[in-house]
Amino acid sequence: MLRINSFLAVLSFSALQLAGQPQFELSRNVYRVPYSNGITVTVNNDHYTHDPLGRYDLKGSGFGGSCGVAYPIVAAAEGIIRRIVDNNNVHGPDCSSNCTQYNNYVWIEHANGEWTKYSHMKYQSTTIDAGLSVGDQVCAGTFLGYECDIGQATGPHLHFEVRHPNDTANVQISTSGGFMSDADHRIPVINTISKHYLSDGDSWTASGSTACTSTDIALILATTISNNGIRAYMASGTITTFAGIGFTFQNGSNGLFQAGGSVTLSPGFTASAGSYFEAKIGSCATTNMVGACN
Ligand SMILES: [Zn+2]
Repeated sequence: MLRINSFLAVLSFSALQLAGQPQFELSRNVYRVPYSNGITVTVNNDHYTHDPLGRYDLKGSGFGGSCGVAYPIVAAAEGIIRRIVDNNNVHGPDCSSNCTQYNNYVWIEHANGEWTKYSHMKYQSTTIDAGLSVGDQVCAGTFLGYECDIGQATGPHLHFEVRHPNDTANVQISTSGGFMSDADHRIPVINTISKHYLSDGDSWTASGSTACTSTDIALILATTISNNGIRAYMASGTITTFAGIGFTFQNGSNGLFQAGGSVTLSPGFTASAGSYFEAKIGSCATTNMVGACN
């Protein structure tokens, strides 16, 4: 039996770049769904279905039309605003060529060097409606602007992505379109939804809750996570795999067991070569960068 219970102890099985290793790693930070509380958010494209790969298209519903005030976009975690463009007012359907030049977008830098991008928001909704400027600190849930279809968008939605620049001292972001280069894509770990990651076709109610269940993983059946599969568990207390019941992360899969108290991996648990698995001691709360957000 392997037991990990020191603060922020990390057990990682993925140091080598192996054939079949997951294309995208899970984020190190913990994020919330980037819409105001109570909005139903559908995942229209995930990291494997978005073109290009590694990004997300999300869509709010339940409160009327977009490009009004129905769907406020919020920061997915605490951080510092690094880029704002919101002076474009060309809607996707009205644009015929080079539409990315009209993208409105916000980039936020978070703890651990991860950045998040929010695109296609309503004209002036970041600088005027939200009153934000580059350099402002935001908390998880801070209003950033309204969902819309400005720029390269086939319809109203939020384009969302999590990146990790390779050179944090020289982050490359194009002014036109706001595209980051020389950076990995990461799959956001989400504390406020039961699955803890976003996948195509899912719908979730946005929430600011940071409460995780006290225990997670009630393994009754043997479980195998195959290539491109993801399984993430979060608990404020403990995560335990039961002895003698097979739990296998296969080549090319992603796994995270994150608990505030302890993670116990019992005989029958396997993280195979080529998987990316972390057992981590950490809070369910979104990542705190400078300590001013509760
Ligand atoms: Zn997109």
